[in-house]
Amino acid sequence: MIIVIKSQIPLSEIERICEELRNQNITTEKLEGKHKVLIGLVGDTTNLNPEQIQQLSPFIEQVLRVTKPFKRVSLEFRHGEPSEVVVQTPSGAVTFGQNHPVVVVAGPCSVENEEMIVETALQVKAAGAKFLRGGAYKPRTSPYAFQGHGESALELLAKAREVTGLGIITEVMDTADLDKVASVADIVQIGARNMQNFPLLRKVGATGKPVLLKRGLSATIEEWLMAAEYILAAGNPNVILCERGIRSFDQKYTRNVLDISAIPVLRSLTHLPIMIDPSHATGKSEFVPTIAMASIAAGADSLMIEVHPNPAKALSDGPQSLTPQEFEQLMLEIAPLAKFFGRWTRLPIATGMATHWLYEFVDYS
Ligand code: PEP
Ligand code: MN
Repeated sequence: MIIVIKSQIPLSEIERICEELRNQNITTEKLEGKHKVLIGLVGDTTNLNPEQIQQLSPFIEQVLRVTKPFKRVSLEFRHGEPSEVVVQTPSGAVTFGQNHPVVVVAGPCSVENEEMIVETALQVKAAGAKFLRGGAYKPRTSPYAFQGHGESALELLAKAREVTGLGIITEVMDTADLDKVASVADIVQIGARNMQNFPLLRKVGATGKPVLLKRGLSATIEEWLMAAEYILAAGNPNVILCERGIRSFDQKYTRNVLDISAIPVLRSLTHLPIMIDPSHATGKSEFVPTIAMASIAAGADSLMIEVHPNPAKALSDGPQSLTPQEFEQLMLEIAPLAKFFGRWTRLPIATGMATHWLYEFVDYS
């Protein structure tokens, strides 16, 4: 349930309303949006009477029930206002959200060695990425496949962060590694396979660190949002949702099937920012640019793109990785499209890294 408060309310009156509700064993949460102040009521609110709550104060504008099973992540809980996830990076704050430029995250599937991660980081930064991705702990189907370099890879990510000023996104698979991962990561990733690892969700919820929550391989939208609810319920509102393709009956030509409709569907259900990962969705580098463009057109707030200096030699996910040159090419193509939708600030300057480009560079800013 949410209480919509009139804007002239004195702070002491908000405190008084919350106190009265707490005395009735109801947990309250003050939510300050850009335009409205709301009080969220969580827990079992089935026996609460909205009309009685309305009587608590003349400053109460409306009392509304949140009808969805997910509460804090629902759009209703913020009265329709999108949330922003602001991430501090060495180069400054980067905001993920509907009214902000598209944030591009790029980097290899796995951190392989210092030279490759630092070089890739420098190249994706030059092309306009704001975050470097790279796995230290890898969820692999086969126990015999490369599992990631673990802690030493985290040190290499820290080095790449220091050299480039890029923010770092890396995956945590085990609650035991969370402190180590969170000490390097600016955003902690929960991968598709762990979307419903509830102890892990609770633990990242307790840290307050921004979290990237990928959609499970066969998760429904509702299961995914309920997983996000675990993180918010544990006290962490900084969640970004990432659609990365789901299982379908025809996986012959693509690794997964990107659920592009997840973008408008999520928009209608939740206030959380949305990222799209065309690399894991398609599994093939040749299809990544098309899906990246489609995602921007459909309103994604962010993209995650796998980039490797030599995809043929990658220790994981080579076939879906772009070269740095292909990544630059992609950035030159998506920037004008995102700008068209008011989601890009400054068009990138071609460094000559890309072998050809569609546009003569023009700085429209
Ligand atoms: C990844 O981002 O490297 C990854 C393993 O992705 P997903 O969890 O979406 O498969
Ligand atoms: Mn990967």
